[in-house]
Order: sequence, then C-alpha cells, then structure tokens
Amino acid sequence: MIGIDIGGTNTRIGLFPSLDAPVYALLAKFPTQQDYEQQLQHIGQVLQEQGIRDATGIGVSIAARVAKDGQTVIFAPNLPGYIDKPFVSKLSALCAAPVRMAHDPVCGLLAEARFGVLRTVERCAYLTVSTGTGAAIQLGKADTRLVSSIEIGHQILDGNTRACLCGMTGCLETYTGGRQLELRYGQPVEHITDSAFWETFAEKLAIGLVNLAQLTRIEVVAVSGAIALNTPSLLPALQTKINQFLLSSQLKLRLAKLGETAPLAGAALLLALPESSVLH
Ligand SMILES: [Zn+2]
Repeated sequence: MIGIDIGGTNTRIGLFPSLDAPVYALLAKFPTQQDYEQQLQHIGQVLQEQGIRDATGIGVSIAARVAKDGQTVIFAPNLPGYIDKPFVSKLSALCAAPVRMAHDPVCGLLAEARFGVLRTVERCAYLTVSTGTGAAIQLGKADTRLVSSIEIGHQILDGNTRACLCGMTGCLETYTGGRQLELRYGQPVEHITDSAFWETFAEKLAIGLVNLAQLTRIEVVAVSGAIALNTPSLLPALQTKINQFLLSSQLKLRLAKLGETAPLAGAALLLALPESSVLH
C-alpha cells in the first residue's frame, strides 16, 4: 500500500508493507507543488523511480476539504490550484491503481484509532493545530464507525470581529490558525513568547473544543499539528481551561501518539475502509 500525505508545505510518500502496523519506508519527501499537474507528475515519477509497479492501492491525505464523492478538492486555502481538479481519477490512471483520498484530519484520526491514543474510544476526535485548525470526529464502534471531517476552525466565537481567511468573520481560526496568526503578528506562531498571547490561544481553542464536546459528546481528542507538537505547554493549558468550562462531563486531551506519521498511515488505512464509513 502507498500512503501519500499532501500538506500545504510538504508532501511525503510512504510504502506500507502491511496495514497491521504504522511502519513504512519513506519513498520521498518534497515541497508540495502548487500546480496540481506538476504534483501528479512528481508523484508518478517517484513511484516509477522507486520501482513501484502494480501498487495494490494509493491512499491520499490532503490538507483540503474533499468533495462528498471523495474525488476532488473543493476548499483549499493553501492549495488553490487543486480545487475542482480530477485529482483522484488522474492519479489512479497515472499509477494504474485504485486511489482513495480524504481530508488530513480524517486520515490522522484513522491512524490514531487503529494504532494510537484513540483505540477503544467510541466517541472521539482528532485535532490538527497547524497552518489551519482542522478536525475530524468518529462516532461508533470500530466495525460500525462513522468518521467525518468537520470545520472546527470555522465555528463562530461570540464577540469575535476578526476577519477569517475563509471569508467569514469571527472564526476560531483567527485565534489559532498558524497562517492567519503569522500574517497578523509577522512571525511564526512558535516564535511568539508573550504569555498573554498563549493564554488567549488556549482559551479560544478550549471554547472550540468544549462546544464540540457538548454537541457530539466526544470523550477523547488526539491533538497533533506542528503548533501543538512544538509547544509542549499548550496541551496542559488547554486541558486546564477545558476542565474549568465543563462541569458535568469530561473531555480528555491526548497528544497524538503517531505525531506527523498519523496522516500518512491513515491515508494507507483508507484503502481498507468501506467508503460508507467516511463522510467527507
Ligand atoms: Zn473561517
């Protein structure tokens, strides 16, 4: 199985000998091409150079919202050149293999539910705190589960007058999205040392997660993404805020066990999953 993780910045291609473990050989890592045709050619070239023929399947994790049929990208602030392009059918034709594609938090969730901190949890979520703030939720037992991409970063926070890059006003992501914050503060978020900034960051994200937990009754969230992984103090601060908000229920945060591997491993897992268990 081939797993491909197409991020807003980098693309990684991994070869998974089996789906029984998140163990893979990294075939390539390269900057994501903004031109989708060039990206397709680059992926095809890597697989050809590595001697990968007759791949049993290719799973793609992409930093973009995917259409209901799983065939195209419909919303991608970081990959605008991919919108409405026949990515799945073209890649499938190019590599002569079946291709499945999903939003990257969906893939992250699949990997953490199979190998990581979400095993045995029936109601859970996977949160990416990175260039954007994305999430997916899973409801149901392993054999009957439904995994859905959600727009956690674009929920409206009361009193928030900030304009979001998505075009709406008041989104959570105006406080937590790496790209928006870098534009606002002129430096990468991880470089900001002002404790008041991080206090606000944690509080706004906690509100977003509490709203999600109250609406869906999820119990555990696997947290990943560059900002979360590079800011060790964020998770405990978030958990403290959440505990202050929630009185009659619990929401536990767990650092994603697979780290940056989760979307790649989850992409490969997509291939073994019934299409009906993923809502794009
Ligand atoms: Zn927004």
